[in-house]
Amino acid sequence: MTMKEFGVTSGGNLRCRGWRQEGLLRLLENVLSVGEDPANLVVYAALGKAARDWPSHDAIVHALTTMHDDETLIVQSGKPIGVVKTHERAPIVIMANCNIVGQWAKADEFYRLEQDGLICWGGLTAGDWQYIGSQGVIQGTYEIFRRIAEQHFNGDLTGRLILTSGLGGMGGAQPLAGRLAGAIILCVEVDESRIKRRIESGYLQDQATDLDDALRLAEQARAAGEARSIGLCGNAADIFPELLHRGVAPDIVTDQTSAHDLIYGYIPRGLSIDEARAMRQSDPGGLSKLSLASIARHVQAMLDFREKGSVVFDNGNLIRTQAQTAGVSSAFDIPIFTEAYLRPLFARGIGPFRWIALSNDKNDLSRIDDYLLKTFSDNPSVVNWITLARQHVPVEGMPARIAWLGHGDRTKVALAVNRMVREGVLSGPVAFTRDHLDAGAMAHPNIMTENMKDGSDAIADWPLLNAMLACSSQADLVAIHSGGGGYAGYMTSAGVTTIADGSSEADERLSLTLTNDTSLGVMRYADAGYSESFNEIQKSNIPYINLR
Ligand code: NAD
Repeated sequence: MTMKEFGVTSGGNLRCRGWRQEGLLRLLENVLSVGEDPANLVVYAALGKAARDWPSHDAIVHALTTMHDDETLIVQSGKPIGVVKTHERAPIVIMANCNIVGQWAKADEFYRLEQDGLICWGGLTAGDWQYIGSQGVIQGTYEIFRRIAEQHFNGDLTGRLILTSGLGGMGGAQPLAGRLAGAIILCVEVDESRIKRRIESGYLQDQATDLDDALRLAEQARAAGEARSIGLCGNAADIFPELLHRGVAPDIVTDQTSAHDLIYGYIPRGLSIDEARAMRQSDPGGLSKLSLASIARHVQAMLDFREKGSVVFDNGNLIRTQAQTAGVSSAFDIPIFTEAYLRPLFARGIGPFRWIALSNDKNDLSRIDDYLLKTFSDNPSVVNWITLARQHVPVEGMPARIAWLGHGDRTKVALAVNRMVREGVLSGPVAFTRDHLDAGAMAHPNIMTENMKDGSDAIADWPLLNAMLACSSQADLVAIHSGGGGYAGYMTSAGVTTIADGSSEADERLSLTLTNDTSLGVMRYADAGYSESFNEIQKSNIPYINLR
């Protein structure tokens, strides 16, 4: 199958009985069109898949194109199980992806189930067709860099060097986020094709020929006071220690390799990509050990940079957990980005909200940008982000935008957009969704919920409640995900998508879904004792029962 076949559909022709089904079908096409390995249904993060296998994919497409508004498609780990009669206010699709019973939720059991064709991992936004390309995490990464700038560099990253690795589906957002934040960013990536892909998509500027060339390009940018993104082909477990050895002192250090997966994700030093791939079949246990040893070296270098004064943080890939297993006892001295930089936003229900123009018409995105700039003119962070994004963030797949909006604002935008669809201001419907890494939607004790004030890190009730609430609120797609590969047993999360098709029913669906989603998020943080949440509850009249 060639890449050309993974396109998206444009315009107003419906292949389904309505826009709710058609919209979800277009989102499925979209995640494959921007995915890392669509021929194998892999969207990102090494094994995050859009469907279990091709027969499952085709059966999902068939179900979406034939089902009525009063029916619901049930998907179990990427495989359609049945279309049942429900009612017109029920979700069109419900999913449970990769949920394994507690004691069995381990990487080895996941791989066995996966190889036996019984399960697949949906990542966060892959399995439920919400991924919008590298853009999906770009604002989050940008906000982290901006917060570091404020906390450590007087708000200015000019001339500052960020060192990171991994230019995959999500990590590919780093070079553009770093550049937009005003820094020089050096990204080490072991797979040269990923570097070329990010250059082609406009996320990365240069590829250095070797480490000397990378440092020369960084120095040139520093001298000129320019923001710059530089890709370097190499293994982070070699390059990070080599930079230390040379006495290079980056200002900020992080990593976004697929370190969570020791077999299908992280590439150990000393192995070519082909050699690592071959070992996946011939000696997965040996490969896993090599990955752990390299991660130990990689994280030790991050700790050494920290010792020398760099601001170092974990960007949500379980690399500290793996390093700790490999014997790096101080790995958790490195803070997680959520706790260090973003938690005050989550506590107010502000998080990675996004929308996708189902018409595939870029003008629709632009009209929504205009609306946001006008409506939020008194909110500098929204104005700053939308201005930057419309100028610099390339369109990947269907036109989509991410914007960190909070309680009330999400509903306001969605209702305005639904009105714009109804009045013909936009050329087609728009899907509203968000990352699972959102206030009420994820329990992940080593990423999202690490060091919660009340110690509630591992309680997965919140994402489960979130999904049930989304169903009760008439969302169009609701999914419950748990971790696969190295994430098995580490996380549970919930995803939700609702289509603004211009109807009055969509007004109700959007209003209930989005308002209740962020309400639960704020209540979750209030329940854990975050003062920002209590302020939001008071300001927005969120019906929290306070028994604290
Ligand atoms: P991906 O599998 O698409 O890309 C990972 C990249 O790392 C690949 O390009 C791979 O070649 C490269 N790589 C592997 N080992 C390497 C090494 N030793 N040195 C240099 N490069 C190496 O994964 P992704 O979607 O980009 O996600 C990356 C990680 O980030 C995952 O663990 C994912 O779960 C996590 N993640 C975090 C967030 C967040 O909110 N912070 C969001 C999404 C994903």
